[in-house]
Amino acid sequence: MKFYMHTYGCQMNVADSSEMGRHLKAKGLVETENPDEASVFLVNTCTVRQHAEDRAFSEIGRLRRWKARRPGRKVVVTGCAAERTKEYLEDRFPFLDLAFVTIMRGCNYSCTYCIVPYVRGREIYHSVEQILSETRARAAEGAREITLLGQTVNSYRYGTARFADLLKAVAEVEGVKRIRFMSPHPYYMSDRVIETMAAVPEVCESLHLPVQSGSNTILKQMMRNYTREQYVSIIGKFREVMPDATLSTDIIVGFPGETDRDFRETLTLIEQTQFDWGFIFKYSPREGTPAASLESLPQELVEERHQECLALIDRFAQEKRSKMVGTMQDVLVEADNIGRTRTNYRVYITGTVAPGEEVRVRITSAQRATLEGVIEDGNIDFENFREEDKSACANRG
Ligand code: SF4
Repeated sequence: MKFYMHTYGCQMNVADSSEMGRHLKAKGLVETENPDEASVFLVNTCTVRQHAEDRAFSEIGRLRRWKARRPGRKVVVTGCAAERTKEYLEDRFPFLDLAFVTIMRGCNYSCTYCIVPYVRGREIYHSVEQILSETRARAAEGAREITLLGQTVNSYRYGTARFADLLKAVAEVEGVKRIRFMSPHPYYMSDRVIETMAAVPEVCESLHLPVQSGSNTILKQMMRNYTREQYVSIIGKFREVMPDATLSTDIIVGFPGETDRDFRETLTLIEQTQFDWGFIFKYSPREGTPAASLESLPQELVEERHQECLALIDRFAQEKRSKMVGTMQDVLVEADNIGRTRTNYRVYITGTVAPGEEVRVRITSAQRATLEGVIEDGNIDFENFREEDKSACANRG
C-alpha cells in the first residue's frame, strides 16, 4: 500500500512527518510522490500561521474527491492544527479517517542522529481518560484496530498508570479488536509490558522494536541506552511468552565511524535474531544533530553495506513468509482487497471484501512482501495446516 504525505509549516512539522513516514514504512507502506498512486493521503497541518492552516484546510476539502475515486482510500490529518480544531475538522470533513491515537508527544532521549528531541522537546503524556475517550470515538466510528502512537510509546506514564496499564484499559473499550503500538524503545520493553502483550488478547502478536545497530560501540555513539546483549535478552523473553508473534526492526547502516567489524556485528545480530522483516536505512546526517558534525563514511561504502544488510534481512524474511503458505489467518481488511494478519503481514485477498471486515483467509502465496490469500468458505483442507489452526477449526465445529 502506498502513502502520500503533504507537510505544512515549520521544521518541527517536517521532522514529525519524516518520523511518521518512518513509522508507516515500518508498517510496510511505501511512500509515493504521486497522490494518484496512493491509498493513504496524510496532511500534516500547522497552526502557527493562519495562512498555512487555511491552505491545509482547503487541501483537505479537495481530498473528498480524491478519496471517492477509489474505494478504501484513507485521508489522515495530523499536526497541531488538527489537534486544535479537531471538532471543526470532523464536522466539516466527515470523510476523514483519524486512525491513530497519539498518547504522548516529544522524546526524553537524545539519539545523536535524531532531530526529534530538539524540535519536539521532552515527553508530555496525554491523560488515560483523554486516550480512552479518543479510542471510544474511533471505535464508535467503526475502527476495529487502534494504533497507539508515541516516539517512545512504551515510556508512557500518567499518574500511577504505565504503558502496560494503558494497553489493558484500551483493550476494554467496546469494539476494539486489535491493538498495535509504535514505536517502542528497547529500554522500556519491561517484563511487565511483554507479559501484558501476551495476556491481553486484543494486543496483536507482533512487535516492531528498532535496534539500529548490532555493535555496542555504535549503539553507544548513537546514545541508544541499551547494549546488544540487553536487546537480545528482551527478544528472548518476548519469544518465550509469544512464540508465534512476529518481530521486526529498524537498522541504520553507515553511521559515522562504523567499522567493518561494527557492521559485521549488525549482520551477526540479524542472523542470531532472525527478524521476520526489517527496515534498513542508510545513515544520512541531519543538520542540528550531534552526529551531523562527525565525518561521514564514503557513500559507496554505505551503499554496499546497505545492500548486504538488505539481502540478509530479506533472506530471513522470505524464509519466514514461506512458512505462512497453507496457514489460516484472520485478516482485517484495510483497503483495496488488502488487509493485515494479527502478526502484521499484509495480505492481498482474492474475492469481494469491504474495509473494516475481518475474514478468515487461507494463505496461498508468499512470493512477495504482500502475501496472497483466499477467503476460506468452510471446506477446510487440513493438509499443511499448523497445529493450532487445526484445533481452532475443529473447535469451531
Ligand atoms: S528515541 Fe531516539 S530516535 Fe526515537 S525519537 Fe527519541 S531521540 Fe529520536
